[in-house]
Amino acid sequence: MKESPEALLRRVFGHAAFRGEQAAIVDHIAGGQDALVLMPTGGGKSLCYQLPALLREGTAIVVSPLIALMQDQVDALRQLGVRAACLNSTLDAEAAQAVERQLLAGELDLLYVAPERLLTARFMSLLDRARLALFAIDEAHCVSQWGHDFRPEYRELTVLHERWPDVPRIALTATADPPTQREIAERLQLQDARRFVNSFDRPNIRYTVVHKENAKRQLLDFLQAHPGAAGIVYCLSRRKVDETAQFLAAQGIDALPYHAGLDAATRAANQRRFLREEGVVMVATIAFGMGIDKPDVRFVAHVDLPKSIEGYYQETGRAGRDGEPSDAWMCYGLGDLVLLRQMIEQSESGPERKRLEHRKLDALVGYCESMRCRRQGLLANFGESHPGACGNCDNCLQPPEAWDATEPARKALSCVYRTGQRFGAAHLIDVLRGGDGERVRQFGHDRLGVHGIGTELDARTWRGVFRQLVAHGLLEVDAEGHGGLRLAEASRAVLRGEQPVMLRKPVARRARAGTTRGE
Ligand code: ADP
Ligand code: ZN
Repeated sequence: MKESPEALLRRVFGHAAFRGEQAAIVDHIAGGQDALVLMPTGGGKSLCYQLPALLREGTAIVVSPLIALMQDQVDALRQLGVRAACLNSTLDAEAAQAVERQLLAGELDLLYVAPERLLTARFMSLLDRARLALFAIDEAHCVSQWGHDFRPEYRELTVLHERWPDVPRIALTATADPPTQREIAERLQLQDARRFVNSFDRPNIRYTVVHKENAKRQLLDFLQAHPGAAGIVYCLSRRKVDETAQFLAAQGIDALPYHAGLDAATRAANQRRFLREEGVVMVATIAFGMGIDKPDVRFVAHVDLPKSIEGYYQETGRAGRDGEPSDAWMCYGLGDLVLLRQMIEQSESGPERKRLEHRKLDALVGYCESMRCRRQGLLANFGESHPGACGNCDNCLQPPEAWDATEPARKALSCVYRTGQRFGAAHLIDVLRGGDGERVRQFGHDRLGVHGIGTELDARTWRGVFRQLVAHGLLEVDAEGHGGLRLAEASRAVLRGEQPVMLRKPVARRARAGTTRGE
């Protein structure tokens, strides 16, 4: 008699029981049907096709865009005694031929392959001659233009269904906002496939967003509140990664850099230390972390604004896979927003793509500025609701207060207008506060009516005002130019006194996140 899925799970993978919907998914695929699986990072997606691969005759073909991850998965499977191999550009011709022979001889349970490889005429005719158990399409959001990691080759994967209609397909992703879900189903012709949607909530992760004052100091405070913990610090640029890692190391923190500009040996060595040793802080660009399976990452810190909520969710999802309390901490300021707007505008993408990226950034900024439960906000983005406030995010633990900022907002907007709609917040604040530095005098801004009309607020509070005016769409960033601020259409009603502006009160300066309220 054939071994049951549960028996295989225990014998081969060493797990006592299935998690969540794994059992149902395995049954469904093993029974020869198609599925679309939406499960958060760390949820246990791999098993959903690895087990059916063992249950069904023939070889499972796993499409994965991440070559580095492929090799890790294959190594891990081989250690379990599973006959797995991969085909990608890192193999030489001889090694590739050996894998092809194994495939045809029926000696492989799983074959991992990069999409561009799979789509070659040569490989497809090879598949025609092989016995196929199933197709697994990992990181399926890569098919979606709306998703955050679009790969054109993924679009061609419909050929799988057309050429081998009887082979079951399972598409998997950890990114699941409803538009991406719809696009995956449509693009991969999986409309009729059963959908398995797991909750995206990660209750053990505490979400916190702080406003940038002195990012390095704030990061250091945060890290010092987590002594000896392993974590990831994400930065936008390679240079920032290097600087931040050096700064932290000089402060006695075991921090290492990771980005694509480092040579392969250094990258591998740093990654190894992060995985094997305790308490290493990896300072990295977002390239780091894909496929890193380290269960006890205690925090993920963003010192720069991520590009979208989906990206943010995925990056923070690398924390706390072991279920223990973990932190997702982000430090963001207006400067980040200006920079990202400029990056989008100055990228090679077409106008439609740019609009899309601006919209995603809007959603993320909305999340950052939100006064409601962060978890509810994040999950809502994935079409999921959370019953009640979570009690485990900064907004729940320290409910923010709103203040009526209508007057300051009008002053800020007037100042933008009177100075010609081309200056950044720092200069505008200087003018409002009556500064008479060289730049203010050089432009004659000390002679304007708005000069010195805002002395009632300190510079920090003004920064919060400008940041939120941009976040709420009352001011726009001139992203094609130098990043100056200009009035958005929506600001007219405020300037005419028809619309009040309620803003989030700056949080009192405090040592660190997670302390009790009321200080
Ligand atoms: P994902 O691809 O969804 O991010 P993985 O497939 O890499 O997740 O699984 C995450 C971790 O959970 C792995 O360490 C895996 O061994 C473990 N895991 C998966 N399924 C189970 C299970 N049923 N019981 C215990 N651990 C599991
Ligand atoms: Zn909450």
